[in-house]
This record gives sequence, structure tokens and C-alpha cells, in this order.
Amino acid sequence: MATKVLLLALAICRLIVTVGLEMVAVPTEVLRLGIEGELSLDRRDVERASNDFGKLRRAEPLAVVHPASAEDIVRVIQTAYEWGYGLTVSARGHGHSINGQAQSSKGVVIEMSSERRRTSAAATTKVNEKERYVEVWGGELWIQVLRATLEYGLAPMSWTDYLYLSVGGTLSNAGISGQTFNHGPQISNVLELDVVTGKGELLTCSNERNSKLFHAVLGGLGQFGIITRARIALEPAPHRVRWIRVLYSNFAVFTKDQEFLISLHGKPARQRFDYVEGFVIVDEGLINNWRSSFFSPSNPVKISSLKADGGVLYCLEIAKNYREGDADIIDQEIESLLNKLDFIPSSVFTTDLSYVDFLDRVHKAELKLRAKSLWDVPHPWLNLFVPKSRIADFDRGVFKGILGNKTSGPILIYPMNKNKWDQRSSVVTPDEDVFYLVAFLRSALDTESLDYLTYQNRQILRFCDDADIGVKQYLPHYTTQEEWMDHFGDKWDQFYQRKMQFDPRRILATGQRIFMPFT
Ligand code: FAD
Repeated sequence: MATKVLLLALAICRLIVTVGLEMVAVPTEVLRLGIEGELSLDRRDVERASNDFGKLRRAEPLAVVHPASAEDIVRVIQTAYEWGYGLTVSARGHGHSINGQAQSSKGVVIEMSSERRRTSAAATTKVNEKERYVEVWGGELWIQVLRATLEYGLAPMSWTDYLYLSVGGTLSNAGISGQTFNHGPQISNVLELDVVTGKGELLTCSNERNSKLFHAVLGGLGQFGIITRARIALEPAPHRVRWIRVLYSNFAVFTKDQEFLISLHGKPARQRFDYVEGFVIVDEGLINNWRSSFFSPSNPVKISSLKADGGVLYCLEIAKNYREGDADIIDQEIESLLNKLDFIPSSVFTTDLSYVDFLDRVHKAELKLRAKSLWDVPHPWLNLFVPKSRIADFDRGVFKGILGNKTSGPILIYPMNKNKWDQRSSVVTPDEDVFYLVAFLRSALDTESLDYLTYQNRQILRFCDDADIGVKQYLPHYTTQEEWMDHFGDKWDQFYQRKMQFDPRRILATGQRIFMPFT
């Protein structure tokens, strides 16, 4: 314990040197502060916390905290709050942000998902079978949530495509995937949270209790508090998944079918798919690329052999979950749904796999890319929510216009129903009943392609502005408060008031660059 106290004092002293204050200014309570976990100044810890998946931005913290409990986080934030000299604190989940959102320049990064904490957190994951929910540490990864709940034959309903993301990290954004049309984003499937606010108070919140904080934190980009515990709704877990891809050459037909499929939300399971996504194929290389190991190499798909519309093809990706005893019925249900769609005949690719393998599919692609040293590279990703009424304009201007035939990664496109999103949360979406996610998930293998892709992202955003498409960024990235005000639109006043209430000293998640820290 004595070492930890000393280390924290050291970190604070380093901060004092940084802000140009005298050593004697350190309040004695800071020096006495003890945490149960670990406060680290280790270069490896600092280096890790200075970076993220995007590899586009780097900011070094002074110290990294590996918390042993929510109380440790309370102590760190209370110290920063009471001290009041601009010491910032950011929670870092699994560091899978693109633009430094979890970084804290010259502040403290709290490693929510570090191996050390996760090993002990596993023991604190609690499944309530009767009421069908799980309680998890905020830094828990979704893959672990899945494994823990499957022990009870249960699983969460709403997912992200990739499971090596933390619960607190995805809930700070929304958490979306092919189930969102039916179950809403992950933030619509949370029953209760424990949150340490920017004043260092540990509060339990839900729809009924401290509801303002609850709604603020969901989709709140880490601005109002650090999620230390989440209670997540569960359903009986399916055993297997029939995963299907079909191709379209006509964009209008493709989106008509996608919109039809998501209009079946809320219908009994046998009358709808459980998962609806899709992607755009503008270059042939992509079809056997990371998300497409699905297409059999012994039966390669030749885009040129299909009549692509302006050189572009669209792939609808759908899936149906089932329990082992229902394999026969599932064929009929799928047949009946496929009969209602207008894809290119003979372009049906089907695979059948376990529920876990389906949910964990992107991790398999990750391992392949890692083996080729293609994972730890810069990722100039761009994620947009596009209103349904303008998606055809977007197709013309971007997929068939700006993109050319080099995309450097998958482009996802799938629609969602706005009524599955709780408007009280902090997240912003376009002002229409149906809107699309369009995700450009690009990798830059050298400086030249990084510059090119970054430039192309700017062109896409400029096109959307000029054509007044009404897009909203998902996983938003802006650098000025004016841009953030524009992003939040009508929700800005509420967002600002919530900030003043829960983090008035602007301590938290400064890597988002929404509010400047006090100096
Ligand atoms: P971090 O990057 O560590 O943090 C993100 C933000 O949340 C930061 O501001 C941080 O301060 C804050 N934060 C982190 N933990 C907490 C906490 N406990 N309490 C409060 N604030 C916190 N998103 C989707 O919705 N759907 C997808 O299918 C999807 N797929 C992805 C696939 C890959 C390969 C990658 C890299 C990202 C993907 N994402 C997806 C985006 C992902 O959801 C976000 O980047 C998310 O923030 C990553 O979680 P993380 O734990 O790494 O968060």
C-alpha cells in the first residue's frame, strides 16, 4: 500500500512540475490517498494508454491506474475534482477508438479492461437466471459476457460485430450490429448502471432511479461518468445460426429488400430474420477479403460475371438463429423469407455455424490479419448514419462517385428503426424513422494511402454537407466545440447542462475534445 501511495504522489508531483506549481501546493489528502489497485508509471502502461486502434492520434498520460474496484475510481476522480488544477481522467476500455477518444494528455488513464482487472472481474460477473439479466464490471469485454451467460443457456440480445470491445466503451457510443433493427442498440438493452460521476460520486442509476444520469451516460461519450457496473438484459441463447449472403446489382432493389426485412421487427421469430446487415463491393479484391472468407475460395465470385450497377455490387447479409431441435423448420422459414426478396438468382451463399462462432466471426478475421501484420496499422475509419430518404443520393455521390474502385476495407451498410432508440439517451441519430449505418472500415498500409483515405473521408463529409444529406457521425470525431454543437443540434443544450451537472470541472474523457479541460 505504501508504495502505491508514494507512486500516486509521484505522479501528482510530476503533474505539478508540468503545470508549473510549487511542490508544496500538493494537498496532504492527495499524498495520503491510497488505492487498492495499482497506479503505474511504467513505460509500457503509459505507451499503451497513449495509443488506440486508429493509430492516428497519440497523447501521453502522466499515469495509468489499474483499479481494483469502483472505490478506486471514486478516489482518483475525487482527488482530481477536489484538487481542481486541471487533472483530467479518462476511462479506457479496450482502446478500440479511432481518434484518441480514450486518451488523456498529461492526465490519468484508468485501464478498465486490463488483464489484471479482468481476471478478478470474471469472478464478479453475476447472472440472474430467473430475472434474466447479467451484472458485469464496466471494463468487461463482450466476449467474456457471452461466455459467462452461455453457462446458463442465456445471452444478451444486441451485439456489436466484434466482441473484443468493453461494455463501458460500447455503451458510451451505442453498440450496433445486425440485431439493432429488432432489439435496438446495446444502450436500449441496459437495465441499470453504477457510475462514478465527474464529482467522484458513485451512483446507481436506471430508468427509475437517477434517471437523468442513466440517460446521459448511455451514448454519452464518457462525458458524465465512468461506468463501473452494468446490468444487461438476457434471452435464452440460440444454439446455431444459418448465415446467408445474397447479391444485388441494383441499389434501389437492395435497399427496398433491406427496408422490408427491418420492417418485420417485433414479428414472431419465425417470420423474420434475427440479423440484417449488408455491404458494398466496389472492388473485386474485397470479395475474398477479411469479412468475406465466407465466399468459398474454390468457388470465387467474379464481379465481372455479374452485371454490377456502375461497377458496384451490394451484398445483403442475413442470419437466422435456431435451437438444435429446430433445424428442419428453419429451412422452410428461410425459404419463405428468401422468396420475398429480389436478389440475383444463383447468388445465394449459405453457411451454418454455432452461435458463438457467428457472434465471434470478426475475431477470426482479426487473427488472420494479425498473422499477416495487417491488423496493427492506421485505421482512418468513417461511420455515418444516413437518413433513408437520402440513401440513394449517397449511393450516387459516394459509392458510385467519390470512392473510385479502391476502398481499402469493407464498407458496411444496413438500416435501423429509430423507434428502437431511446431518445432520452445522449446519442444523436438522423431525424427519420429509418436510417442507415454506412461504415468505411479502412486500413492504411503506408503514409500515402493514409493521406489518400483521409482526404477521401473529408470529400465524403463535404459531399454530405453540400448536398444537405443530413448525416450524423457514429463514433463521432470533431475537434472544435462549434462542430460538436452542430453534431448534437437540438440536443446540445441538454448535453451541456448534463455536463455541468455531472462533470462541472470537465475532468472526464477529454480525448473526445468536446469540452476543454480547466487549465
Ligand atoms: P475505448 O476506445 O477504450 O473508449 C471509448 C470511449 O468510451 C472513450 O471516450 C472512453 O473514455 C469511454 N469509456 C471507455 N470505458 C468507459 C466506461 N467504463 N465508462 C465510461 N466511459 C468509458 N461499434 C459498434 O457499435 N458496432 C460494431 O460492430 C463495432 N465493431 C467494431 C470493430 C472493431 C474492429 C473496432 C476497432 C471497433 C468497433 N466498433 C463497433 C466501435 C467500438 O464500439 C467503439 O470504438 C468503442 O468505443 C470501443 O470500445 P472500447 O472498449 O475499446 O472503448
